[in-house]
Amino acid sequence: MRITSHFDSGSIEVVKADKPSDIQLKIRKDSHSDFLQWFYFRVSGVESEALTMHFLNASETSYPDGWPDYQVVASYDRQEWFRIPTSFDGKVLTAKFTPQYNDLYFAYFAPYTVERHLDLIAWAQLSPLCQLSRVCQTVEGRDVDLLQVGEPGADKAVIWITARQHPGESMGEWFIEGLLERLLDEDDPVSRSLLNKSVFYIVPNINPDGVFHGNLRTNAAGANLNREWQNPTQEKSPEVFYVRELMHKTGVDAYLDVHGDEAIPYNFVAGCDEIPGYDAKHKHIQDSFKAFWQEFSPDFQVKHGYPVAHHQIDEYMTMATSYIGSTFKCLAYTIEMPFKDNFNLPDPEYGWSPERCKRFGASVLGALLKVLPELK
Ligand code: ZN
Repeated sequence: MRITSHFDSGSIEVVKADKPSDIQLKIRKDSHSDFLQWFYFRVSGVESEALTMHFLNASETSYPDGWPDYQVVASYDRQEWFRIPTSFDGKVLTAKFTPQYNDLYFAYFAPYTVERHLDLIAWAQLSPLCQLSRVCQTVEGRDVDLLQVGEPGADKAVIWITARQHPGESMGEWFIEGLLERLLDEDDPVSRSLLNKSVFYIVPNINPDGVFHGNLRTNAAGANLNREWQNPTQEKSPEVFYVRELMHKTGVDAYLDVHGDEAIPYNFVAGCDEIPGYDAKHKHIQDSFKAFWQEFSPDFQVKHGYPVAHHQIDEYMTMATSYIGSTFKCLAYTIEMPFKDNFNLPDPEYGWSPERCKRFGASVLGALLKVLPELK
């Protein structure tokens, strides 16, 4: 038996792996910070062996509330990621599975690697509706890529979307993939109507260093990018520094920042309710957007989410959504999807999955079309 994570987005520490019935693992810290929660590794030489994997430090991770009701994902072909029986005793997370093949992968959520990201942008640039460019380079010299969809114009709304500030929240880029497939579909009436009156600037992966290293929350300088928006620097957070600079150049009429939440088993959004100067007009457009999205996707709901004042106000104002919402007085939302499942529409076999992220990403375009007249 062999266990390895020496590949794109891989992460695990092996404590003991001499017998399949008692595999002892530790979840590894981010490459340059103390956050920890993400794992993705390969197990070889185990066909028909009853595997029992213990994640010994589960209770010491960044979000221990992420483990109750959570099921590890597994895949033989790295395309189909299914859930396996998992339990949490308050200290150790234990997953059990008997593979049908010799070689398989386990992860916290279906990974979306840097390689897959490169495939996504290469595919997108072939569309006549889309232009690919590079915003900047990261701390380690990877590219931060930007997709412009549609043409800018004086009367057009400017819609910005970013994902993977927190690199372990891979559902964010699955969401973007589904959104792009619809937005670049020249036969889709929602997308055609949107692009008549708006231009999209989409950063599918703003933290490729963190994604490559298999980090949960930080870049290669140890920065949590979603706490860098007030004072980003070229040294510590160039990814935010340059994307933000570009947003100031284009202006912003709507902004969506796509994330995942470890603990809450629902899809929800967090907006600008606490920014200084939040007024009735701002509230109205937020409420309209939420109402429309509920019409377009039963996977979206507004009952469960973060309570108001979930973050201290100083911290809150360093986050992308609050910074952009207060600077541009525009619709700005953090979108959160579950690592577990949507408990309103549970799927025991797959849980919340790449396919469901993609459908959910496509569905947000309907809500954006409906609020479009109010954006400018
Ligand atoms: Zn996040």
